Amino acid sequence: ATNILLLLGLNLALFGGLWLVFRNMKKALQLAQAKSDFVSNVSHEIRTPLSLISMFAETLQMNRLQDENKKKEYYKVIGQEANRLAGIVNKILNFSKMEANKKVYQFQSEDLNDIVNEVLKIYDYHLKNNGFAYQVINNEDNLPVNVDKSAIEEAVINLIDNAMKYSGQNHSIVIETGIEGEYAYVSVKDHGIGISKADRMHIFDKFYRVDMGEVHNTKGTGLGLTLVKHIADAHGGKIDLVSQLGEGSTFRVLVPRINAQ
Ligand code: ADP
Repeated sequence: ATNILLLLGLNLALFGGLWLVFRNMKKALQLAQAKSDFVSNVSHEIRTPLSLISMFAETLQMNRLQDENKKKEYYKVIGQEANRLAGIVNKILNFSKMEANKKVYQFQSEDLNDIVNEVLKIYDYHLKNNGFAYQVINNEDNLPVNVDKSAIEEAVINLIDNAMKYSGQNHSIVIETGIEGEYAYVSVKDHGIGISKADRMHIFDKFYRVDMGEVHNTKGTGLGLTLVKHIADAHGGKIDLVSQLGEGSTFRVLVPRINAQ
């Protein structure tokens, strides 16, 4: 009987080991696939602004445009697209710093309301220009926090960019700040395509993008949420998500607040 038990134990250990090996192999394969998708996604992301910039610059150079307003518009597009390129490159650089544990955060006492409202001041034109209506709710007059301002700005910008990208037809967004327990939070709510339960477990993984075939023609690197999560973690905070497929998503970044009881 002891022998049988021993044999059974050995078998269990063997199967357990094999299962672990297969699981790790599956994970490694998924990551390799995600990485190769990332390279092609980034190439696509970079190609569009690059070709717009060179096309518009060429037209301007050839003096083909007489209308001054048209010229201004072309210069504006060149500027916007160059900013977009800089944004993509920044995201990738930040991500590689983060991966190498070289991202340095500089914490200072700030007001979360001020940070969020400043981002929105800059984004106001971008949102309205893309047909978005947004509402801001500051539930508290003051939200003192000890944070790296530019990192929190980056997190909020990533969430707003995503809300815009995945909004589908419903172009309304709600940005809210407030207190929950020992945390101060900022949330970004959209009424867009939503995220399934299965995908909700993966979207914070590096390079992960929800595969929706032809419908999923939005551009992206699959790094935005990985960065947001890293930023929240670095602040001793957290990120949470409420989402329903077809109805929309609410992402929240929570960071410890100063003077929390
Ligand atoms: P990217 O947007 O560059 O693909 P992210 O890391 O920011 O990368 O997001 C990962 C994935 O999570 C996205 O590809 C998208 O499928 C999904 N996602 C993120 N934000 C939203 C949102 N607000 N609504 C629906 N899906 C979202």
